[in-house]
Amino acid sequence: MKHNFGAGPCILPQEVFKAASEAVLDFNGLSILEISHRSPDFVKVMEEARENVKKALDIPKGYTVLFLQGGASLGFLISAMNMAGKHKKAGYINTGAWSTKAIKEAKNAGLEVVEVASSEDKDFSYIPKVDDIPSDIDFLHYTSNNTIAGTQFKSIPDTDVPLVCDMSSDIFSMPIDVSKFDIIYAGAQKNLGPAGATLYIVKESILGKSTVDIPTYLDLQVQHKKDSMFNTPPVFSVFVSNLNLKHLLNNGGVDAMEKKNKEKAELLYNEIDSNPNFEGATAVEDRSLMNVTFRLTDENKKEQFDKLWNEGDIVGLKGHRSVGGYRASMYNALSVESVKALVNIMKSL
Ligand SMILES: *Cc1c(COP(=O)(O)O)cnc(C)c1O
Repeated sequence: MKHNFGAGPCILPQEVFKAASEAVLDFNGLSILEISHRSPDFVKVMEEARENVKKALDIPKGYTVLFLQGGASLGFLISAMNMAGKHKKAGYINTGAWSTKAIKEAKNAGLEVVEVASSEDKDFSYIPKVDDIPSDIDFLHYTSNNTIAGTQFKSIPDTDVPLVCDMSSDIFSMPIDVSKFDIIYAGAQKNLGPAGATLYIVKESILGKSTVDIPTYLDLQVQHKKDSMFNTPPVFSVFVSNLNLKHLLNNGGVDAMEKKNKEKAELLYNEIDSNPNFEGATAVEDRSLMNVTFRLTDENKKEQFDKLWNEGDIVGLKGHRSVGGYRASMYNALSVESVKALVNIMKSL
């Protein structure tokens, strides 16, 4: 097997791939790909998936969990439209390419956007201090883990303003205090399941309070009232996400994941810091546990290093075109052994 360090779609546990493939051929006598989303068998899957998200993240009462479509990219617009309040103004922390796109969509939703903090001055290689949050904004939006730049918030911004977070690339990698948020959204394909579903965790008290006109599909109140079945949901993606959630719950949950993810990150960052051939691409204190970005100190060794990891069955290590260098994405299902394989290759350069 190859070691998949790709940034997404993500690696999933082998058991999940196997169960998913079996259900393609036989799910209670039909294929999971052909069953009606209104059939009791699938309604049960959807209910279970929503419940398992609540269990996995220990979500308090008063929140609804939805599986919609459109990816996190539509989540930028959905979250802004549903959170638009009396100020029609929102605060955004700009920590990279995804935050920048989220800002653009908030403007498309008709909101005035204040960039409360930004790390654009240093190519998004750090997490900016957030100390001046205006009070006349409807919500504050941030990206918990910056998949492309390789930085991650180590704590939740301290504010009384409603919080919205794009957690696409670090949800389920550790415990989170959901009670601090009004909307959390995440494309499934980074750490949850196959592409196609987008997860929303929404405080029920915000539903129906928007001050802008929301197209029906984008209205979270509609989606909530229809139990996440307003139209045909992404059946297969929800099914496999649920398999993965069950696997997570049966293997120690997000606490065990956090431990494993810290162990993997420590192994790789230690090698980057101790091997003179490499250097990290971000501020040390803001390093992501999920997406590790690094560079060669001598570009002349590129050909040699690329040959080594390609021959070592490592996949997906090339950095994002906007950052260059390398990016090792280490989502939940990536094993410690895979990280050791990469570290050994780095040592051999
Ligand atoms: C990948 C990613 C996105 C975009 O996700 P899509 O589901 O492809 O729209 C948005 N935000 C973050 C943090 C991401 O990692």
